[in-house]
Amino acid sequence: MVATDGPVIVVGGGIVGTSIAYHLASGERPVVLLERDRLGSGTTGSSIAQFVAHLGPSDSGEHGRRRLARDWYDARIADGQLSFEEIGTLRISRTEREFERLKRLKSHGTDVRARSLRPQELAAYGIDPDRVSGGLLTPTDGVLDPGQIVQYMAERARDAGVRIETGTEVTDVRTEDGSVSGVQTNGGTIEGSVVVNAAGPWAPELNDAVGVSAPLRHTEGPIVVLETDRSDPLPLTFLEGGIYLRGEGASKVLAGSFASDYEGATRHDPDHARPVTQSFHLEVADVLERYFPSYGDGKLINEWNGLRTVTPDGRPIVDEAAVDGYVLAAGPSGYGVTLAPAIGRLVAEWFETGGKPALLESLSLGRFESAIEHA
Ligand SMILES: Cc1cc2nc3c(=O)[nH]c(=O)nc-3n(C[C@H](O)[C@H](O)[C@H](O)COP(=O)(O)OP(=O)(O)OC[C@H]3O[C@@H](n4cnc5c(N)ncnc54)[C@H](O)[C@@H]3O)c2cc1C
Repeated sequence: MVATDGPVIVVGGGIVGTSIAYHLASGERPVVLLERDRLGSGTTGSSIAQFVAHLGPSDSGEHGRRRLARDWYDARIADGQLSFEEIGTLRISRTEREFERLKRLKSHGTDVRARSLRPQELAAYGIDPDRVSGGLLTPTDGVLDPGQIVQYMAERARDAGVRIETGTEVTDVRTEDGSVSGVQTNGGTIEGSVVVNAAGPWAPELNDAVGVSAPLRHTEGPIVVLETDRSDPLPLTFLEGGIYLRGEGASKVLAGSFASDYEGATRHDPDHARPVTQSFHLEVADVLERYFPSYGDGKLINEWNGLRTVTPDGRPIVDEAAVDGYVLAAGPSGYGVTLAPAIGRLVAEWFETGGKPALLESLSLGRFESAIEHA
């Protein structure tokens, strides 16, 4: 059971670690947040940061977690502390069968204004209606600013007494009699009764140092930003083959790859540079030509490649591992920005009361018992 007293050390100042530190800040325990580089410089910095409502059955707890997160965001958007652009998310189908599936999803979603669209309605987004069978729009989704969120949380955590150290790398986790006793950093040792691994794509490295096994792998997230002839609005739009597009400003289009399938994932070295490949550029050009003929040939103005940390079921792992006091908060796949406020709030409740909130039950490490042997 996680100790309910003593210092909590959070490793990783991305959106997940910062949210945990922020939510713990209002409690009684000392909290230290350690970041090897700058706050938000990991996956959070390469994210396109769309809040995405959950579609699908509610049994996994995902409805509840996203509602919790959305409520946290909405309160700060309403009073002007965080920015948000409500552009919606659009999922496109090519066959009637796929369109029927999307329509069924609509009734399960957390966005009550979700609506299905016929091909002619999709033309309003510049989509060639002859290429598609329909779509599902969740209009209340939209774009957040991940850097702004991290700074917002970090400032308030600091004001409430959290010690935040950037440029501080955790090189080892110290244990005594099978329990965590602190961490070793490049600047010395720090004592703590709980260590949270919120190290994003570096989480598997820290697990290795402690001898903990968890099914976490990486997928690449290449992004290209193109100047186009677009004049229609374009929500975050998911197309075939895992390609998504989103309108940026008046005429730009951002295109990315939503590869988050664990089976196709591997373990990358997060410190290793990953250029955007020529084949990805060609894939995007092909999608533009087929679905958005009015956009013309896009002119490349920016590109980058992020790393997602994925699990076999696409949900994060938020749980204590075999070493007492060593807690994983990693693997949010493509939804870490969406989920971070909920993860932070639920972890803080758990560490303060000792009782794990029900919404964390479906994020247990134990759900992957057979996968752990093969991780
Ligand atoms: C291209 C792309 C697009 C995305 N789009 C969306 C989206 O639209 N919506 C959405 O909800 N999610 C999206 N995501 C996913 C989301 O960005 C991530 O799930 C989220 O940012 C992960 O945050 P994190 O805090 O877990 O990890 P990170 O942001 O990677 O933070 C981990 C931090 O730990 C630090 N660290 C690592 N090891 C150590 C150590 N040993 N000591 C100290 N510090 C350490 C790192 O420097 C890093 O800053 C996207 C991801 C990508 C790649």
